[in-house]
Amino acid sequence: VIVGGGFAGLFAARWLKRAPVEVTLVDRSANHVFQPLLYQYATGIVSEGQIAPPLRQVLASQENCRVLLMEVTGFDLERRAVLARHPDGPITELRYDSLIVGAGAGQSYFGNDAIAPFAPGMKTIDGALEIRRRVFGAFEMAELASGREERSAWLTFAVVGAGPTGVELAGQIRELAMRTLRDEFRAIDPELCQVLLLDGGAEPLATFGDKLSGRAAGTLRDLGVDFHPHCMVTSVDAAGLEVKGKDGTVQRLPARTVIWAAGVQASPLARALADASGAELDRQGRIKVEPDCTLPGHPEVFAVGDMMHLNDLPGVAEVAMQTGLHAANTIKRRMLAQPTRNFRYLDLGSMAYIARGRAVVDFRGIKLTGFPAWLMWLFIHITFLTGFTSRLGALLLWFGAFAGRRRGQRAIVVEDVPRTAGPGAPADAEQPAPPPTPATPGSGS
Ligand SMILES: Cc1cc2nc3c(=O)[nH]c(=O)nc-3n(C[C@H](O)[C@H](O)[C@H](O)COP(=O)(O)OP(=O)(O)OC[C@H]3O[C@@H](n4cnc5c(N)ncnc54)[C@H](O)[C@@H]3O)c2cc1C
Repeated sequence: VIVGGGFAGLFAARWLKRAPVEVTLVDRSANHVFQPLLYQYATGIVSEGQIAPPLRQVLASQENCRVLLMEVTGFDLERRAVLARHPDGPITELRYDSLIVGAGAGQSYFGNDAIAPFAPGMKTIDGALEIRRRVFGAFEMAELASGREERSAWLTFAVVGAGPTGVELAGQIRELAMRTLRDEFRAIDPELCQVLLLDGGAEPLATFGDKLSGRAAGTLRDLGVDFHPHCMVTSVDAAGLEVKGKDGTVQRLPARTVIWAAGVQASPLARALADASGAELDRQGRIKVEPDCTLPGHPEVFAVGDMMHLNDLPGVAEVAMQTGLHAANTIKRRMLAQPTRNFRYLDLGSMAYIARGRAVVDFRGIKLTGFPAWLMWLFIHITFLTGFTSRLGALLLWFGAFAGRRRGQRAIVVEDVPRTAGPGAPADAEQPAPPPTPATPGSGS
């Protein structure tokens, strides 16, 4: 049984294609979501189908694999059973010989979940769609606004967290305003929109090291993104947010659209596995695994991808793919009575897209910025893309979006547009402000 059809689970399932095994892949979503491109969905470049292909379609030719749309709720490791909820409600048991769990991670608001309704995160297709509605809806509301102050609040976007996701989103909103929307409005000039990027650290993309992070800061400045270092977001409401600076002063920033890209929390299934096996959790709720990605005392159970903790590996797609492959390979080797190995990570580096023609890449010590980095970003994403009917299709679409100005994937209706009183609320309703519990933005991905 494989739980989760993300990068880890899907790569594990595919690696077992020719093995004499029966694979059951369980996911609560019918689709494999290519998370690194969620920001392109949120800003109207790609459609849902292009970055979230049906798992059934991806695995159609793999006859030894069945896909079940169910939510896993727990594990009985002694009886080797996964407990999964049928969409009708009842809990079903799925028995296994080997179990691979790759249930990923979700958004963390550092304990201040009251922020969530006012600052959606981008971990899922639904989250990205909500951001798309709010971003395009904010420009619509600005066009309809009667006063200068109101217009300016709608044209102010705050992105919390200056890791790769925050940087990508901030850059994309400025690009939208400067290129796509430039000539489309009559009462407002979208180019005047303000994008605030807030982070607890000193630089954006801090994990990329001083050189790349400095270059990223320069590119963001050129784009017109307003970077606010050393700040902690203490509260968010429908009209803006409060941030505490390094010197302890609290400042109110009016912004109708706030996006949360600051924290990560492992799937609750990590805790369920820890409770069942006695394994420990780290601060992000990730389960600490043995060097071969198995659980202590349970060599038949693997935890892989974003939900596991091993050697401080980061929560990135490459780790997920490689741990998924490792788990599947270990199962194959055991069947052939071959010796198994500990997991060894091959670090292929990291990259972040900032804007059209501009990215930063750290590839095994080789640091690239600007256009060469962007070309490399393009090459890597084309190579790993699952979902587009063809890679050529993806290239053509990106060519259209990057060379031209138009973005076609941005349908919204009146009900989607954020209201003055708060996201998703009726126009005349009051939204209660969340309590001012401090939240610490970091450089989450
Ligand atoms: C916006 C964004 C941008 C990113 N950009 C990059 C990038 O540029 N480069 C990079 O390397 N990494 C990037 N990442 C990180 C990368 O996407 C993750 O590291 C990777 O997706 C982790 O894979 P996974 O298989 O562990 O988890 P996921 O891909 O999250 O998959 C988990 C799967 O488990 C399923 N699931 C969860 N709970 C249950 C349950 N209870 N029952 C059944 N199914 C369940 C989910 O539906 C999902 O399909 C980004 C992440 C995000 C959110």
